[in-house]
Amino acid sequence: MHKQNFKIILSFLLIFSSTFILSQKKFTIVLDAGHGGSDHGANRSYADIGRVAEKDVTLAVTLKVGAMLEKNRDFKVIYTRKFDEYPSLSDRTNLANRSKADLFVSIHCNSSQRPTAYGTETYVQGPNQNDENLEVAKRENDVIFLDEKDKQTFGSYNPSSPESLIALKLQQNKYLESSLLLGGLVEGNFVNKDKRFSRGVFQKNLHVLRMNAMPSVLIETGFINHPEESHYLASEKGQNEISESIYNAIIDYKKAIDRKTGGSVSVKKPEVERPAETPLKNDFRILLLSSPIKYNEGDPALKGLNYILPLKDNGLYKYYYGVTNMASVKDINLKTAKDAGFRNAYAVGFMPNQKLLTGYYTIEVYAGEKLNGNSFILQTLKDVERNKESGVFYYTYGKVFTLEDAVKLQKDLESKGIKNSIIQKVFK
Ligand SMILES: [Zn+2]
Repeated sequence: MHKQNFKIILSFLLIFSSTFILSQKKFTIVLDAGHGGSDHGANRSYADIGRVAEKDVTLAVTLKVGAMLEKNRDFKVIYTRKFDEYPSLSDRTNLANRSKADLFVSIHCNSSQRPTAYGTETYVQGPNQNDENLEVAKRENDVIFLDEKDKQTFGSYNPSSPESLIALKLQQNKYLESSLLLGGLVEGNFVNKDKRFSRGVFQKNLHVLRMNAMPSVLIETGFINHPEESHYLASEKGQNEISESIYNAIIDYKKAIDRKTGGSVSVKKPEVERPAETPLKNDFRILLLSSPIKYNEGDPALKGLNYILPLKDNGLYKYYYGVTNMASVKDINLKTAKDAGFRNAYAVGFMPNQKLLTGYYTIEVYAGEKLNGNSFILQTLKDVERNKESGVFYYTYGKVFTLEDAVKLQKDLESKGIKNSIIQKVFK
């Protein structure tokens, strides 16, 4: 490298790193006033105060929360709307994701068929939306980790690797945990500070919660169709109290998160150089269970874990989870397996590309009743071997000598439509 070029690069690096260290990382919060424009949300007319519309209450409260936050230099506030207009739900979540926001707060009012319903409630992302949420997280996060510890563990991020997916799942849980924390603080303030009735914090599958790659809450500040509460929602006093309660909750939330991540995120400490983890010589898979029973992908016996490699060995099906040559990821995979309910799981080392000396690998493509000559498998594959053992017909295909080649062969078969096959070790 030319000396001159080296100097230029060096000074660039210095400028870059010093601005990086000096610039304070602000906590970015997206405030979302529900509804707007032609979408009025819940609304009801009263003889004394006229029509109370959700879109007006949500905007007033949102602007008040934002004005308080903007006075605090730790925060960067982004609004999905500041006027009486209607951004679509995707506009709102896209804005939050693009901004790499740290928190998303959507403000709404409730309504009910029952005229007696009243009180506040806060929603967090629902229990059954993890897959979709995971897709969003994959798409939106190139730097996906909340804290330094995770960053070290999953330093190199490859979105398609099983390790990264496990990391993303862990992160989803953290989002949910954080959202529940904020929800509890908001509802707590409504009860303790404003002496209101809280219906609680709930999980619900809502677009603005589902499509965000960050902790997110949706606050129902009260019932528009409940006369007393509606008057409160429309009043200056009510809107001030509600926005103060939300503001205080956000401040306490940030403090709690800062404590968790070890110091305020607004003070960027210089990064300490730490040696990269050295890969292990062997690959490690987690042995979940050995069983004479064949379980297909998605079977409840596999407790929701993906990336399982079943391996038939001496008449037993062995189910292995994950594969890695990093000790830290191996530990996390083992913990994930134990958390999923495989208490006796343990890590097994596989020497990469090890050739079987006595025997070979083949793919068991089917086990059960005798296959008809017109069956999909026999029509698709030539040279399928058939064996009968205690009344069961076993069909196998191919002969390779390393596990890696067997996995490759199995993938080939899968692309031909032959699913749920099993790699089998044959001793000769
Ligand atoms: Zn609403």
